[in-house]
Amino acid sequence: MSRLFNFCAGPAALPEVVLKRAQEEMLDWQGRGLSVMEMSHRSDEFVSIAEQAEADLRELLKIPANYKVLFMQGGASSQFAMVPLNLGGKGGSANYIYTGIWGKKAIAEGKRYLSSHLAASAEDNGLTAVPRQEAIQLSADATYLHYTSNETIGGLEFDYIPETSVPLVCDMSSDILSAPIDISRFGVIYAGAQKNIGPAGLTLVIVREDLLDQAKPEMPTMFSYKTFAENGSMYNTPPTFAWYLSGLVFDWLKKDIGGLDKMAEINQRKAQKLYAAIDDNDFYANPIAPINRSIMNVPFTLADSTLDKVFLQEAEKAGFLNLAGHRSVGGMRASIYNAVPEAAVDALIDFMTEFAKTRG
Ligand code: PMP
Repeated sequence: MSRLFNFCAGPAALPEVVLKRAQEEMLDWQGRGLSVMEMSHRSDEFVSIAEQAEADLRELLKIPANYKVLFMQGGASSQFAMVPLNLGGKGGSANYIYTGIWGKKAIAEGKRYLSSHLAASAEDNGLTAVPRQEAIQLSADATYLHYTSNETIGGLEFDYIPETSVPLVCDMSSDILSAPIDISRFGVIYAGAQKNIGPAGLTLVIVREDLLDQAKPEMPTMFSYKTFAENGSMYNTPPTFAWYLSGLVFDWLKKDIGGLDKMAEINQRKAQKLYAAIDDNDFYANPIAPINRSIMNVPFTLADSTLDKVFLQEAEKAGFLNLAGHRSVGGMRASIYNAVPEAAVDALIDFMTEFAKTRG
């Protein structure tokens, strides 16, 4: 068996020790004679797995007691509708900071349920820098302010948490768990699992308890945060295996990595050296303002774009998978989430240097 270096933006690389542990436990979980996939979600076994995962996540992110953690489905894309449905019961308007493609989708979907207002935009700088705090202008009727802390396609990441007088809602799909964060600054945080949390199929929502009573009355039961909060995310059958595997990832972050401070240190090191390799070589370029360069997703272009295909082919031959940029923007992108080892980044830098030398 040889596992290659995987730079996929999502579903993304998982820690090898997690996959091995899941493999060991696959047929017979802790001597109970069945797989986690075959357990009733209401069994003592699965409830213990679910509770441990939540406890570990709470410890990692230091989630205050007045926040609920919800294990939902539908991906982050469903949250584009669930947020206005859950918070917009009293009307008002959803305010947005626009910094890229995912935020744009959130705005387009949200408009169907609540009026919307663009509080700040990175459009005028070509989506290369995050609007500064002073530029954020809430509407008088703002119900909440939504932003995307890390735009996965553009590789544009907030370097600060916006200050606001209304609840702050954040799509943290591609940078949650990459570094410590002050949860108490937020009303709602949501994230698709398939990057830094676990496998696809699970959507994590962290919501402040006082926001659970603001839903629109016509709300479908299964889209309601309150339904999930009141039923321990088990109103219906949850994605049990994805929940279990995410728990193994949280355990890895705690025990093998040593927590989010440590994870952030490693992530910074990985990103800094990759950006340095891009900046130091005229053959490669990244357009993002240095302060807003994503530590998780590193897009880059080649000086000669006719070589894009060759670059990707040779990279794959050399064992580097999924380096193509998003289909909407082209170019290259290396997603270097928590589970992508530093050795993978080092090897990629060597490959890029060699490619530029021979083809550039
Ligand atoms: N928001 C961000 C920041 C993302 O990166 C993605 C997925 N790449 C999404 C939302 C959509 O997530 P999902 O596929 O889970 O709906």
